[in-house]
Formats: sequence, C-alpha cells, structure tokens
Amino acid sequence: MSEKLLREDFRLEPASCYVDARCPRYKAIVPAEEDLSPLMPYLNAVARVVFYDPEEPVLVFKFDGRKVAVRRNEVRISDVPDIEEGRRLREKVAAYLEEVWTKRAEITPRHEPRTLPPALKIYQLLPKTNCGKCGEATCLAFAAKLSTAEADLSACRPLFEEEGFEAARKELEKLLNQ
Ligand code: SF4
Repeated sequence: MSEKLLREDFRLEPASCYVDARCPRYKAIVPAEEDLSPLMPYLNAVARVVFYDPEEPVLVFKFDGRKVAVRRNEVRISDVPDIEEGRRLREKVAAYLEEVWTKRAEITPRHEPRTLPPALKIYQLLPKTNCGKCGEATCLAFAAKLSTAEADLSACRPLFEEEGFEAARKELEKLLNQ
C-alpha cells in the first residue's frame, strides 16, 4: 500500500436528518487509492474505534466529532454541511490515515472485532440522577446516544467532577474507548 491512501476527489450524498427534515446534511464519500483493509488493524489499535468487523471488513471511528467509516475501497465521513467543509474534512482524515499507516511499525495491530456496549449496560454505570447537565433529559437517553457514538462521555460532568464516580468513569472510558 502506498503512502497516499485517499483520492483528491470526493462526492457528497444526502444524509437523513432526524431532528429537522429541512436541515441539509451530507456524508462525504472519498474513494481510496487502493485497498484500505491492511490499515484497519492499526487504526483499531490507535483510533477511537466504535465498530470494527474484520470479516466485512469495515471499521468506524470517531474523528473531529464525526463518524468515519473505512471500507476497502472508500471512506465515508458523516455530518458534512457543505462542499467546503467536505474538502477540509477529506484533507484531515487523509492526513490522519496516512500518519497511522506511516507509523505502523511502531503500532501493535489489533485484529479483534469491536463494538460499543448496549445502552442498558452503559446506563448502569452512569450516575442515574437525570440531572440534565449532558443536554439529555435522562441518563438513559444519554446512554442510548453513547451506545451509538452520538455523544461523548465528557458531557456527563457529574461523572468527572463529583465524588464517588471514579471507578464507574474508568470502566465507561474503557468500554467506550474514550
Ligand atoms: S449529566 Fe450524567 S447524570 Fe446528568 S442526566 Fe446526563 S448522564 Fe445523567
């Protein structure tokens, strides 16, 4: 595999917007220069991976607040508002993937599949006070977003700032790969 992994050209495709049907959001689809599957075990070791299926193969990781799905022949970047942002994200993602590939000799690859835990398992480790500081009405709603990588654990300030949650926070960080 060469050092240049993604092509310069990309296209935007409409992505569904569940919150407001009028909000125009897209996914950027960037073709690969060649098969990206050799990169995936290295990404699985260093990126904030939320899903990895080595059989398919497909790997999804969080990057710059978005989900990036890596397949053999392309990369898909979620939640892109317009072509300008798509161009900026394409460059950042390409640079990151190329950096991981360049440094692969220093990385121990991880070949095992990865997936996020179900919402109920996450919920059991949250404070369960429904304080709303994370922006969600309940801890269960926040857990549901964590289980699909739509939220970051750091939004639950009580977990980080109040006493008594250190063990649960560490367990969640491990489960969620954050
Ligand atoms: S900030 Fe934490 S404790 Fe408060 S509702 Fe959100 S998940 Fe629950």
